Amino acid sequence: MFLQDQIEKSCRRLKNIEENPRPEFLQSNKIRYELEMEHAMHTLEAWKAGKPFAVFELGAHQLARPLGFEPMGFIAWGDRVKEPQKYLDIAVTRFGFPEHTCDRTMTALGLFLSGEVPVPRLVTTRRVPCEPERFAAQAAAKYLGALFFEVDKLNSTGYENIAYLAEQMGELIEFAEKSIPGIKYSEEKLVELLEMDQQALNYRRDTYELRKKVPCPISPQDAFRLTMEPSRHPNPAKVLAYCKAYRDELFERAEKGIGGVPEERLRIAWLATGPFGRATFDMLTRKGVSLPWFHYGVGPVSYGVIRDDYGDDSVYGRKLTPLEDMQRVANANVWGGGADQWVDPLIKACKELKIDAVVDFLQPGCVTTKNLKRITAQRVKEEVGIPTLDLEGREFFTSDASAAEMNRKLEEFLDMCIANKN
Ligand code: SF4
Repeated sequence: MFLQDQIEKSCRRLKNIEENPRPEFLQSNKIRYELEMEHAMHTLEAWKAGKPFAVFELGAHQLARPLGFEPMGFIAWGDRVKEPQKYLDIAVTRFGFPEHTCDRTMTALGLFLSGEVPVPRLVTTRRVPCEPERFAAQAAAKYLGALFFEVDKLNSTGYENIAYLAEQMGELIEFAEKSIPGIKYSEEKLVELLEMDQQALNYRRDTYELRKKVPCPISPQDAFRLTMEPSRHPNPAKVLAYCKAYRDELFERAEKGIGGVPEERLRIAWLATGPFGRATFDMLTRKGVSLPWFHYGVGPVSYGVIRDDYGDDSVYGRKLTPLEDMQRVANANVWGGGADQWVDPLIKACKELKIDAVVDFLQPGCVTTKNLKRITAQRVKEEVGIPTLDLEGREFFTSDASAAEMNRKLEEFLDMCIANKN
């Protein structure tokens, strides 16, 4: 069972930290694993109590709790399954969905169709270039009999897009309140969560400055951990405490000159999706390759490469309404616009963080990454003067041979970059 698996996984990790602490990993991960465990336990309890669940993908996620829903992750939950093949089989063999899209989307769909997670009352998605993701969520809604609401966006990152998105948030609130008994929006709750999300953003942004240090104080595995937002969790105050502990611990490591790898020989940026499994992280650590920058959708706005703060009245020349304010991060998401939106902040981060090389990671079936690859590599070469590796690998369904081939290609590239740097 998915939720039970999550609880057991967190327990195992907590025990591991206690019994076999690894010096390169952050101690604050302990709070993170506690939060993950508590979230899974809370979800199980809410499911037993018959609470209404909903999928609110990025851009609308802060609305879930103020409306009275228990939020579910879709892709985020699919990323965490223990036995991916089981869920892929459900989506592909039992329901007839294609297996040639990226692992994440079909696994998430299979999980939702497995009966191991609550049936959401409402599924919302956002128009993004990743069509497999939104169509998988739409298919989940259709097969589970959930209501479905899709949010559109403009091809711009100005105020007009924020206003357009906020207008649809108003429609989403009206739709949810009208369609689902017991659902009632609290603006006060939304404002409270936005304030906490902003504090968490502030802590993360402090750590961007630390990533400029040589050696970089964060380990490759910790660099791949996605951000935690207070608004997504049943205990937002503890998430905030975790973000502060993470920031403080990195400052402490930087002050003592402790690096995230034993001896830093190369600094890389990794794009799009993290690799799966320990082998890649261990190889980066062994070779002295630190990872000051993981470039993904909300990475640049989360770490301050793009600045657009909740409650900042100066950016758009007036105070935004809470629903407009909420759209700032979605508006600044670099995944889902033109190529410049993706590449500009990458170039900035590469320059500021003294990056030596870029790894552009592609999961088979991800058309979004594929279409950006040539432009990314070309601009990185011309504007930063560093090489980009075009790397392909699956997230879950790696045969030993394909994982070994991916790591072999990566290792060759890293060796070449280290030799050139020396
Ligand atoms: S890896 Fe690509 S196809 Fe898969 S969810 Fe992410 S953007 Fe979509």
